[in-house]
Amino acid sequence: MSGSGKSSLIIDSLLPGLHASFQEKAGAREDEGEDGEGEIGFVPPQAEVEGVEHLDGYCVVTQRLARRFESSCVATYLGVWDGVRKMFAAQAEALEQGFDAGFFSFNSTGSCPACNGSGVVKRWLGSLPVQDRCSACEGKRFKRAVLEIRCNGYTIADYLEMSVSEALVALNEFPRIRKLLGTIEDLGMGYMGLGQSLTTLSGGEAQRLKLAKELGKNKKGRYLYVLDEPTVGLSYYDAEKLLVLLNQLVTDNHSVLVIEHDPYVLSYCDYLIELGPEGGPKGGTIIAEGTPEEWRMQARLPLGLGGVSDSNRMEGDAR
Ligand SMILES: [Zn+2]
Repeated sequence: MSGSGKSSLIIDSLLPGLHASFQEKAGAREDEGEDGEGEIGFVPPQAEVEGVEHLDGYCVVTQRLARRFESSCVATYLGVWDGVRKMFAAQAEALEQGFDAGFFSFNSTGSCPACNGSGVVKRWLGSLPVQDRCSACEGKRFKRAVLEIRCNGYTIADYLEMSVSEALVALNEFPRIRKLLGTIEDLGMGYMGLGQSLTTLSGGEAQRLKLAKELGKNKKGRYLYVLDEPTVGLSYYDAEKLLVLLNQLVTDNHSVLVIEHDPYVLSYCDYLIELGPEGGPKGGTIIAEGTPEEWRMQARLPLGLGGVSDSNRMEGDAR
């Protein structure tokens, strides 16, 4: 139930506890704070967390991307773009003209001087700002000379305009990029543009992009992944895809902790903890816990966990 204390338990208690434990365990999390933890604003832990020794690290996959990624696009955020730039810099014409990887970046040496690599020029209509496509680069964000260089028939700007699905084909020769983009397609987001600004993503899209990036890191060991209502805004079809990936994490020896009230997602879990009995001041108590099977036995509920989030029914009032 909303306000029953789910966030207090996980976000305000468990995560600060984990954060403190892993700070002591130096080097256990090489990428600490990279992606949003800094935004959560940890308070000192109220409780000690037991069992941390079973984990090599943890990772919070929220619906928000860290502020420092605001000017990033999908390709730069994923780290895919570096590979593309290097591929261009290795072309014979690029070497001839002395274009290093920086020339193939739209916010570095190669950016169109007229629009500074944004592809648009701002002008004022009275007090109203209007954005026009940059006429110097035709919105392609790069210097003319850079756009002359082609790789597999495409210019650097062409790559930026590709969707993830298109890029998956065009960049198929790079195993790491193939894995990352393949994961995004598996998550039902093959339509995303490589050059799409992160500020245009919905919370759900941002969360899945983040998850794809995490999965691409191929973490060794046992990590705890924490997700807050990951299927909000997803169709049944896309939620299913997300659950398959989360299952994969578990198969790979990681653990997944999900704050969720969707019975469909809950039915995938190995263990459930229900807080309640009501929201607000009347919440905050564990009212039931166990495997989905135990819940069904206990409440004699029909398959599919119908009514799990209705605490009254848990007290034996089988439908
Ligand atoms: Zn321009």
